[in-house]
Amino acid sequence: MDATTYYDPALETMPAADRRNYTNQRLRRIIRFAYDKAPAMREKLDKAGLSPEAIRTMDDLPNIPITRKEDLPKLQRAKPPFGGFVTVPPSALEWIIVNPGPLYVPSHTEECYQSTAKALYAGGFRKGHLVVNTFGYNYHAAWLITEGLRRLGVTVIPTGVGNTEFQVQVMHDLQASGFLGTPSFLNNIIKKAGELGYDFRRDFPLKVAMVGGEPAPPALKKSFQEDYGLSTPDLYGNTEVGTLGFDCLLKTGFHVPDEICVEVVDPATGRQLGPGEEGEVVVTPFYEIYPVLRLGTGDLSAFTDDVCPCGRTSRRLLGIRGRVGDAVRVRAIFVFPHQLQAVVSRFAEAGRYQLVVSRVKERDYLTLKVETQQAAPEGLAEAVAKSFQDACGLKMDKVDFVAPGSIPEGSKPLLDERKWEQ
Ligand SMILES: [Zn+2]
Repeated sequence: MDATTYYDPALETMPAADRRNYTNQRLRRIIRFAYDKAPAMREKLDKAGLSPEAIRTMDDLPNIPITRKEDLPKLQRAKPPFGGFVTVPPSALEWIIVNPGPLYVPSHTEECYQSTAKALYAGGFRKGHLVVNTFGYNYHAAWLITEGLRRLGVTVIPTGVGNTEFQVQVMHDLQASGFLGTPSFLNNIIKKAGELGYDFRRDFPLKVAMVGGEPAPPALKKSFQEDYGLSTPDLYGNTEVGTLGFDCLLKTGFHVPDEICVEVVDPATGRQLGPGEEGEVVVTPFYEIYPVLRLGTGDLSAFTDDVCPCGRTSRRLLGIRGRVGDAVRVRAIFVFPHQLQAVVSRFAEAGRYQLVVSRVKERDYLTLKVETQQAAPEGLAEAVAKSFQDACGLKMDKVDFVAPGSIPEGSKPLLDERKWEQ
């Protein structure tokens, strides 16, 4: 399969300057539209003292406050059903997805289905394929993917989640050539096929499996490729906006669909970050039914605007590296709780611990407090600091050994004491 064919060549390969103009023009249009049709967006801009015309380019976007994904259920409860974000009455929608919360998610526009079709094409799905979609049909992803596949001329087999043995039978009987679902479910299906006496490589013509909904461990992806000859490009999205990024066959990072604008911002200050800098993914879709301006996804990533060897010129997100709430950004690098735990667990003397980030002389200052039963042996502080630097790429300023009980039970492993001027 050729990586340099496209679902929509004109949009997907437009030169950088054209892309900038295109994105800025669509931004101006959707902001005006949202201001006129979505009361929540009008309120947000009015509160910020902004007229829609005040935002001319992507660089102006940080003037608009971020809407936090986790605040949406609360905003919807305050103004049911959609919190003033949706621009048509409920009866004009094709479907309404109800997520736990509850969070009501409207169906989207044709353009949203087209952008998903684009993602699925980039992943390798083509007309003539038979594809099982194992995402749950009570979730938005399953519907978007179905619409996207239909636009490619693919035959959709909507099996939904669960019932592994049944899935194996369906995929075998219908000789499915494609799969959509989580990587762990794909793994279960392959294992179950083995248990049922099949030779997966020989008995199943499956070639493309686009996976999403959870991070795919690299070892698992390697096994899909090497043991079963399966290409498993990733699909990245969220329930509110739909497709936010997708692998092409070269897997160089998630291509951002042309129909949305993606920024990466510093979660502490809201500042837009440049290429390669890690921060929160903030997205503004150009879809008119649900034009939420600057939705904070809570996902951490970094982007590049370099052209992919596949020829697509869209911005790419370089993997999803965690969730904002779990990490603390120190000197432009994120520290995650699991990294800290891995460092501390190497030292038998160490009990409960906490990393405190403060500001000293305009600089981030790192203190690791560690409880020890006895006085710490000589050299332990240096060893812990070195281990931390190796794991996280950051110099530790101070390691403080404290008596058991000094760090209250249930304390956060990462404590950010810095104060930022907004
Ligand atoms: Zn590419």
